[in-house]
Amino acid sequence: MNAFKKLIKITKGTLLFEEPMRKHTSYGIGGPAEVYIIPQDSDDLLRILNYAKEKLLSVHFIGSGSNLLVSDDGIRGLVISPKKSFKEIKFNNNLVFAESGVMLGSLVRKSTKRNLTGLETLIGVPGTIGGALVMNAGAFGSEISNYLTSVSIIRTDGRLIKRRANQIDFSYRNSTFEKDEFILSATFELSEASKDNINEKKEIASQGRKTSQPLKYRSAGSVFKNPNGNFAAGYLIEQVGLKGYKIGNAQISDHHANFFVNHGNARADDIMSLIKISKEKVFQKFNINLELEVKPLGFSEEE
Ligand SMILES: Cc1cc2nc3c(=O)[nH]c(=O)nc-3n(C[C@H](O)[C@H](O)[C@H](O)COP(=O)(O)OP(=O)(O)OC[C@H]3O[C@@H](n4cnc5c(N)ncnc54)[C@H](O)[C@@H]3O)c2cc1C
Repeated sequence: MNAFKKLIKITKGTLLFEEPMRKHTSYGIGGPAEVYIIPQDSDDLLRILNYAKEKLLSVHFIGSGSNLLVSDDGIRGLVISPKKSFKEIKFNNNLVFAESGVMLGSLVRKSTKRNLTGLETLIGVPGTIGGALVMNAGAFGSEISNYLTSVSIIRTDGRLIKRRANQIDFSYRNSTFEKDEFILSATFELSEASKDNINEKKEIASQGRKTSQPLKYRSAGSVFKNPNGNFAAGYLIEQVGLKGYKIGNAQISDHHANFFVNHGNARADDIMSLIKISKEKVFQKFNINLELEVKPLGFSEEE
């Protein structure tokens, strides 16, 4: 706790001690973060990172927690999110600058209102711009990285870096940002299109999401990446008889088997058990190694 006394003094933003991570994840699951931090701005963040480096505190960056499985034991060290404070968004013709805490949905709505096309099929993907870039969020044929021009980053060693999009490798739900890099902001280049055309694509994406996903329950979206080849992860899980399978209050959705849902007070351990059994059974039957899309945080195996 002593290490945190000075942190309280130097931080202008909000510090929450032993903050339940279930309040900050779409699963509604997760034990306490030792310190959950909402930095006021990038200067504040820089001071916090310098202090963490001096005191050897571990630092974890998150967005809005819509792709995270946080352990029941929580997370030691600092958990830092831009979600409530890095909210600036600016348009200059077809270029958009957005800070990392802007919600993807807000970027989509504001862009499409200006008749700018590119991101409209991402309507309904929860999360922040920072999280969307790290995950290379995509839906209905479009990925956020397709429209990125540059990103500003601050590293845990305090260095500020600007990277052009072509200096980052993006692939399916993956990017080459490193764990010690915090995305501050990004610039996107969109193009003009007719309102009808944009609205049509947005509507198809929205309807597709509503019919294919179990949106009534808390989840983190797809648990596994779809493996290369012909089969979707959900199909494989269904084929091994696990669709609808339940452990405690966690269930492999009976609507979409690659969504695991929380029916109330499910534990991270329950979701983790569902992950393990799905991986095992799919490997036994198909010799396919399912790879996680969801990011586990605070589990010992992760280290
Ligand atoms: C109902 C539902 C539907 C979904 N549908 C889709 C879909 O169609 N397509 C899709 O791609 N995803 C989908 N997802 C998953 C999720 O919405 C995306 O992965 C989203 O981009 C995660 O954003 P986030 O801000 O919540 O990031 P988080 O979940 O908080 O973090 C994700 C990763 O990004 C890192 N990170 C976050 N912010 C920063 C930052 N500023 N700097 C550095 N690192 C950072 C974290 O360390 C973590 O590794 C869905 C999720 C749900 C719950």
